[in-house]
Amino acid sequence: MAQVSARGSGTIPSAALPEPVTELVRLLVDDGHEAVLVGGCVRDLVRGAPVHDYDVATSAPPERVLELVPRAVPIGLRHGTVMVPTPCGPVDVTRFRGGAGLRGDLARRDLTVNAMALEPATGEILDPFGGRADLTSRRLRAVGDPRSRLAEDPLRALRVARLAAQLDFAVDVELEEACCESAPALEGVARERLGNEIAGLLAAPHPERGLAFLRRTGIEARLAPGVRGDAARIVAALPTDPVLRTTAWLRDANAESVLMRLRLPRSLATRVARLLAVHPVEEAGAPESPAVVRRLLRRVGEQDLKRLVALRRAELAECDAAGSALERLADLEATWERIRREGALALSRRDLALDGKAVMQHLGCRPGRAVGRALEHLTECVLEDPTCNTDEGLRAILDAWWETQPR
Ligand code: ATP
Ligand code: MG
Repeated sequence: MAQVSARGSGTIPSAALPEPVTELVRLLVDDGHEAVLVGGCVRDLVRGAPVHDYDVATSAPPERVLELVPRAVPIGLRHGTVMVPTPCGPVDVTRFRGGAGLRGDLARRDLTVNAMALEPATGEILDPFGGRADLTSRRLRAVGDPRSRLAEDPLRALRVARLAAQLDFAVDVELEEACCESAPALEGVARERLGNEIAGLLAAPHPERGLAFLRRTGIEARLAPGVRGDAARIVAALPTDPVLRTTAWLRDANAESVLMRLRLPRSLATRVARLLAVHPVEEAGAPESPAVVRRLLRRVGEQDLKRLVALRRAELAECDAAGSALERLADLEATWERIRREGALALSRRDLALDGKAVMQHLGCRPGRAVGRALEHLTECVLEDPTCNTDEGLRAILDAWWETQPR
């Protein structure tokens, strides 16, 4: 084996590996099996980046691993995987893919940078497909022929997009062409697998890399029809907040249906749709009016209002004639700041000086829709004028309103 590490010489020192991981590998080796670290952890160790999970590949059958490590949990016996809980997180131990030894296992992995193995005892790296050279030139390349590799599993195109966004790597030309051709086959891939990769891409440090790739390959148009041409740049200008970035990506698409199709959480889909309903935020009404801003706050909350402003700022930074929109946005923020300073944010029914019970007593009515409508009306009035949010003030409003109600 070649002795090479991150800088192109030497090995990965065993001190770079957590003790529980090296111990687990030693246990398998001492029992007479081959066992090595593989996949993303080797890639990240060679890059000198933090590792978030360790994968072990071994010649040992999963049944034997379960005997050797009684706390191990079978999580995919069909694929020969057991999960070993360790103090540094769960470690997946998988029998060599294809039952063809370590080299055969590596040949079945997706990308050269993911197809290296590390022997913890010696620190040696097995790199039969030139993964280290591709790490150095910051390039994603398929192991073997990209067309047949994508035909085996079309999800790999999305893994490419996600990894390009995480690593800030370019995609090899042949691999990109193959991804274009295989795009229609994504229809046959489990939707939650697609959704996982999209979520990873949007949360990555360089989402523009992944999104531009998805656009060029025609994958974006399939998964999220209607996405705007400037989406990659806008998303990349925003902080790594999944709600904010997903909203920015899907501004002109049918966000809710895209996200539900990708099996992303309903809570995310609902939230994004709610944000898009008030986008662009400075057009929601007169931005210098406290009532307008209070109503916005009640509708989306402080956190989401902040997101809407950030989204708009990112959009306007890309736009030539942003002048009057920027002014409205600044007005909105100034109004919000004033409201905050005044501290009188009667925004929900809970903040009213009268509760449902008091309303019923005052009106002499029973629980029912009228009480809900009364509270709604009081909230509206307090939004217009927070000074009326007193016991006395609200009772007066209630009397006037009750007069107008059909009975
Ligand atoms: P991350 O560091 O984000 O976890 P990863 O590369 O480790 O990325 P995993 O999904 O954890 O990704 O997969 C572990 C390894 O298994 C990969 O590095 C790759 O070698 C292999 N692999 C995973 N999914 C596929 C796939 N669809 N096709 C081929 N090989 C795959
Ligand atoms: Mg991994």
